[in-house]
Amino acid sequence: MTSRDGYNWTPSEGLQTGVPTIGKILPESNVSSNEKPYDVIVIGAGYCGLTAARNASLEGLQVLLLEGRDRIGGRSWSSNIQGYPFEMGGTWVHWGQSNTWREIMRYELHDQVEKSFNFEKGVKHFELNTPNGVTTMSHEQEDELLASALNKFTNIDGVYGRNTIPLPHDTFRTLGSADLDNISAKDRLNDIASILSPQERAVLEASILLASGGTLETTSFHEFMHWWAMCGYTYQGWLDMLITWKFKRGQSSFAIRFFQEALESKRLKYAFNSPVSHVRDNGKQVEVTTRDARKFQAAKVISAMPLNVLDRVTFDPPLSSGKQSALKIKHVNQTVKVHAELSNKDLRSWTGITYPHNELNYAIGDGTTPAGNTHIVCFGGQQNHIDPEVDISRTKRAVQSLFSAENYSNSHPAPAVERLVFHNWSKDEFAGGAWFFSPPGLLSNHLNDMRATHGNVVFANSDWALGWRSFIDGAIEEGERAALIVRRDLLGAKFDAPRL
Ligand code: FAD
Repeated sequence: MTSRDGYNWTPSEGLQTGVPTIGKILPESNVSSNEKPYDVIVIGAGYCGLTAARNASLEGLQVLLLEGRDRIGGRSWSSNIQGYPFEMGGTWVHWGQSNTWREIMRYELHDQVEKSFNFEKGVKHFELNTPNGVTTMSHEQEDELLASALNKFTNIDGVYGRNTIPLPHDTFRTLGSADLDNISAKDRLNDIASILSPQERAVLEASILLASGGTLETTSFHEFMHWWAMCGYTYQGWLDMLITWKFKRGQSSFAIRFFQEALESKRLKYAFNSPVSHVRDNGKQVEVTTRDARKFQAAKVISAMPLNVLDRVTFDPPLSSGKQSALKIKHVNQTVKVHAELSNKDLRSWTGITYPHNELNYAIGDGTTPAGNTHIVCFGGQQNHIDPEVDISRTKRAVQSLFSAENYSNSHPAPAVERLVFHNWSKDEFAGGAWFFSPPGLLSNHLNDMRATHGNVVFANSDWALGWRSFIDGAIEEGERAALIVRRDLLGAKFDAPRL
């Protein structure tokens, strides 16, 4: 089935809006006209909302799940094009992400993950393309360069942040840690400029922007250090946990398990294509209104919508001033993620950085398509930002510019682009950007505001998780938290008898 989300371009068919995915749900609703008030309404069917809806329905609560899109998964979903999964958003998972891995084991999907990298065949090099020239190096040299640059950037206390952020789930535990949120990545780069080689600086800046999707000025140094701490304070951990393991059949093959299990409880009602516009809490009951004026009532609401679009919903009574400030500030991530299928069949082991002059800065070989072509995944962000669908020839040029002319010849031509697949997260009315990444000050001032419950409305989302904030794992962490709060409030004394 085809979702209206996403784009697919090929030379023969041109640009098509909407791509096939197993995440699209039909029928789009199982709600009947004479529903009684629910125990809980969950708004948003990303991993957070799916986890909350599943847990609450398994606990015996009557649940309504409302979703603005025609599919599950929110910012993590995969398209299946000719049987091949392209990850449109969230992709990589790791056993160090304990909430995610627990769910992978629950659904017995541990044999369904595979590596993105494959350094075994074809072109086995890393191309670094900066205004100073092109350097082609082995992957061992690439790792050495990146590790050296990242170690210099993160070594704020002689032990790579271990003393400053000793417990990343309690990120502001030390005073020194809170101070890091007052400065940007750019400030930190300026501090260590004299000890960075030009190549280190280039790969470091590209790596920072790959993490934040913002600019160096809008990237909180603290949040970068929080990621680093979650990855075990090492470059190898960074690589392993952030960008190595993905699902063979795509993220939607994972998300659908949560939805199916909730449905099997027979206590889940759902409605897709149902954007919520208004949430009114009279203290005893909450009324949720959709944009097309349908109204639903429940004792509790779990809002699982992301930070950057929460201000499109009105809340009555109004949200606290702290929450409203966070909604105004927003996160800064405007990542552009573009999959390219390339005619060259030998690029499976290729990686490249073209920075800072290109619209796409970072790319890796990510798979081999059914046609035997190489699939690479490319990333850009706020800097030189593009809307890839607006000018396909520019997007193609940005992909091709990742391959420096001097590595190719008539007998060994530069790769031609056979297909582009992407989701424009910046223009997405239900996301307003990619994964959460904070500007300086947002977390130290407003993390608790973002997490706070408002009357009978529980706010949950990966964007304000404590651990793997901005990851799938953080979404599951938050879905668990929200379902637990609701369960405790509604089941009261019975709460002590867990049934999950
Ligand atoms: P969301 O997925 O955003 O879910 C919120 C849901 O609310 C959405 O379905 C949305 O449609 C719905 N909604 C919003 N407004 C309304 C409304 N008014 N009415 C009804 N419904 C509404 N994470 C990783 O772990 N690994 C990765 O490799 C990774 N890579 C990423 C790459 C990209 C390009 C992106 C965009 C994200 C990536 N992430 C990754 C992050 C991860 O995808 C997210 O952190 C996670 O999916 C967020 O889940 P969530 O449920 O908290 O929020």
